[in-house]
Amino acid sequence: MDPDDPAIAGLTIADWLARQPEDANQKAAFRSMIEGLWCQPIDRVPLWYMIDNDRRITNEQFELQHFPARTMHALADDLATELGDRVRLSTPATRIDWSADGVAVTTPAGKVEAHAAIVALPPSMGARLDYAPALPAPLRHALAVWRSGSVIKLHIRYARAFWLDKRLSGVVMFREPVGLFACDTGTPERPALTGFIGGPSALEWRERGESGIRQDFLAYLADALGPEAARPLDMLVRDWSCLQRPDHGHRSAGRGGGHHRRRPAAALRLLGNLAGVSGLY
Ligand SMILES: Cc1cc2nc3c(=O)[nH]c(=O)nc-3n(C[C@H](O)[C@H](O)[C@H](O)COP(=O)(O)OP(=O)(O)OC[C@H]3O[C@@H](n4cnc5c(N)ncnc54)[C@H](O)[C@@H]3O)c2cc1C
Repeated sequence: MDPDDPAIAGLTIADWLARQPEDANQKAAFRSMIEGLWCQPIDRVPLWYMIDNDRRITNEQFELQHFPARTMHALADDLATELGDRVRLSTPATRIDWSADGVAVTTPAGKVEAHAAIVALPPSMGARLDYAPALPAPLRHALAVWRSGSVIKLHIRYARAFWLDKRLSGVVMFREPVGLFACDTGTPERPALTGFIGGPSALEWRERGESGIRQDFLAYLADALGPEAARPLDMLVRDWSCLQRPDHGHRSAGRGGGHHRRRPAAALRLLGNLAGVSGLY
């Protein structure tokens, strides 16, 4: 499908799904996968956006088979070590003055001047900075229409990777409840599953409170993987729903964005999820 095809203009994923010939189970699985991944209700995600996004995925291998040797935090520490004292933590940028000649970034600790700035913030945060001159109107509009998704993430440690004994991968996707997903993120030394509750289900589940979420999620896992799943060593539950953390969004979807891949100027680059915005809703 072509994201610019006039025949799909204005369609959401939900509209498109309703027109497909597949049976109710297949449609429920598809909805669960999309809401779990995108953390948005499918009646809010434009169809063109998903097509456009899928076209930009070029990996040819299953992504869950790749892990950093240690942790993502260790990777960040290693990268920071190479940069020495040029890394400034807890120093939020509030304003960027930019021109073809260079940039000046304002922070509470003073101004940083440089040849160029790369803004690698989630779009909703990128929109909160002051830019002088103002960003081009299409880009401002694109930043303004992004909405953070809703997701609860669970990290569940076990004494033993019991699912491997059963020749199961540990990957579980539920048709019902919609948007529940789990996968094996452990190492031989530290067996673990990671779980997600994404999309509208995250907002519904947060009402159960932390102990309710633990108990209910483990019950679903036990149904899928066996009773051992209900007996973890420990478990972390973090609610990343947009209401709690407006500054850090999981995948999110833009509505109403125009053509905004153009670069504002040589000295300013906007990265991150924004790079994924294109086309017209
Ligand atoms: C709950 C959850 C679970 C996820 N699970 C996975 C997963 O299992 N696998 C996976 O591949 N991806 C996962 N993701 C997605 C992944 O975390 C993001 O794709 C990734 O972090 C995006 O990286 P980034 O550098 O673009 O932005 P971010 O990680 O959002 O980094 C932006 C940084 O900018 C900082 N910042 C904000 N405002 C300012 C400011 N004004 N000035 C300076 N700095 C600022 C923030 O503190 C933050 O450190 C998950 C995301 C969430 C929320």
